[in-house]
Amino acid sequence: RLQSALKKTHDVLNTDIRDLFKREGRLVDDEFLTELFAALVKTDMGVGPANKLRDRVKTDFRGRVVQMSDVLAAVKQELRGMLDQPGQQQALQFVTSGPTVILVVGVNGSGKTTTIAKLCQRFKDQGKKVVLGAGDTFRAAAVEQLTIWADRLGAEIVKAEPGADPASVAHRAVAKAVEVNADICIVDTAGRLQTQSNLMQQLEKIHRVMGKVIPDAPHEVLLVLDGTAGQNAISQAQGFSSAAKCTGIVLTKLDGTAKGGVVVAIREKFAIPVKFVGLGEKAADLAEFNAQQFVDALFE
Ligand code: GDP
Repeated sequence: RLQSALKKTHDVLNTDIRDLFKREGRLVDDEFLTELFAALVKTDMGVGPANKLRDRVKTDFRGRVVQMSDVLAAVKQELRGMLDQPGQQQALQFVTSGPTVILVVGVNGSGKTTTIAKLCQRFKDQGKKVVLGAGDTFRAAAVEQLTIWADRLGAEIVKAEPGADPASVAHRAVAKAVEVNADICIVDTAGRLQTQSNLMQQLEKIHRVMGKVIPDAPHEVLLVLDGTAGQNAISQAQGFSSAAKCTGIVLTKLDGTAKGGVVVAIREKFAIPVKFVGLGEKAADLAEFNAQQFVDALFE
């Protein structure tokens, strides 16, 4: 799955790298290193990571004539090391009693609604009972869309009139999840907020009201980012991570982009693990992020 989703990124990157090795072997000199850097940076991984990978190749091979496979092996090993997230909780955390509450944040259009549907599908497949909270009360279309998914996936949904307080929906959704003995409660939030302080206030209030029902809720705060948004995704992540205590990132739309290296950029900039990647528009198109698989999908 990941492999086919990352095909565009893979193809662009590997064409560029193959071009560096037109002849048998290639001398690793400054020109080569600059070209390698350019190929890497084109994936949107960012200048820092691309520099690191180039430096690794420089340290290992400078002044020598090498084969492409040597360079790729070094790049892959270094990249895996950069992506591995030691000490970070990669898997979703579930509480042992009562519903696990997952708050989902992100700007409109990033794929929030679809991601909630995908998570819902995943939990349903695991035999879990799910309650959804349509907390994006500013967008009637978002509520409608989530309602359609809930019906399709057989999940209960808590919603309110357009313009209602998102925190009140969040509160009712968590209370409903407790009442019906649900395993999981997933709550959507508004993605259109004028200012950073607006965003912080909304999220603080949601945390507060959820905490009144279940003291340590929300247990996960997932930030949904559009994988095709490049540097924009990075600045969105900055805004949200300073407003909310995000516990994980879901990077969507990796299937449509030649810039899948954005995963590396996000990993480098934020101390928040990428927990899932979105690989399509359907409810089944969500995969747990795995560094090894990601590196293999980029280069093999
Ligand atoms: P929201 O405004 O953040 O709730 O975004 P939506 O969930 O409505 O998604 C916006 C658009 O992106 C929709 O057309 C989705 O079908 C599409 N989308 C969401 N996730 C993915 C993904 O992983 N891959 C692709 N190709 N499209 C996606």
